[in-house]
Amino acid sequence: MQRKLPLARPIILLMIISMFLSIQPAKSTSTRTIGVWFWVAADEEWRSWALWTMGYLDWTTLAKLYVEYCVSFYFSDAFRIYFNVETVIAYNSDNSLSVDKDRINDAQSKTGFLSNSEPWNGYIILVAFTGQQITDSSGGLLYGASTAGTEWWRGIVIVNSGMGWTEYTLQHELSHLYAAQDHWDPVLQCVMNIYIIHVGLNFIPIALTTHDWCTDCTNTIMSNRERFGQIGNYGGGGGGKCYPVGNLTGGLTA
Ligand SMILES: [Zn+2]
Ligand SMILES: [Zn+2]
Repeated sequence: MQRKLPLARPIILLMIISMFLSIQPAKSTSTRTIGVWFWVAADEEWRSWALWTMGYLDWTTLAKLYVEYCVSFYFSDAFRIYFNVETVIAYNSDNSLSVDKDRINDAQSKTGFLSNSEPWNGYIILVAFTGQQITDSSGGLLYGASTAGTEWWRGIVIVNSGMGWTEYTLQHELSHLYAAQDHWDPVLQCVMNIYIIHVGLNFIPIALTTHDWCTDCTNTIMSNRERFGQIGNYGGGGGGKCYPVGNLTGGLTA
């Protein structure tokens, strides 16, 4: 024998649920997605490294992999910032240069990065992959506009192929563009921690051994997460996983 469910009960339940939903705060800004568009450039040494060391017949595949999957994964996971490669450009770097800033200028002038007029108000980031030695010990170099808030409309990062730590270096340098700072701490697991530790036969910064951000860096990046890119209405990209690109050649030791 079937008991009849009183109709009033589910209706009251629905009313309670809808009341509860209506008093929920509006979706907070920290959970809105942000899509950031990238130009990715690679010099002749890096393209050669992509082919002969990493085994990618098409260097653009590897370059996109680093930005759209490896690094984007961590930024989307922690900050809901999603990276997209809009343009890939091959350039020939000037081998006579010895200062990182000149290498940056070389990349940005040869790619036309600063003179272009792009959609999304030009809030884009250039990642220049180079096979040339970068003086900075981590193998990458931040270059953005000054710290003045209004000038953060273009970001440039140059990253050396190094020893297979590209995804760490890139994450580190991009974090600088969101105002995270280098710091030194013997134990803190943070991609911005440049304290040198002994790993196997290498002395490397902790930054090259973790994809995590410490609490301070997380807060800093979170408060600057709208610095680049387009807010909301963005659902694609990210959310994937970091391809173990270094493992293809056993080059990733950390
Ligand atoms: Zn740094
Ligand atoms: Zn940190």
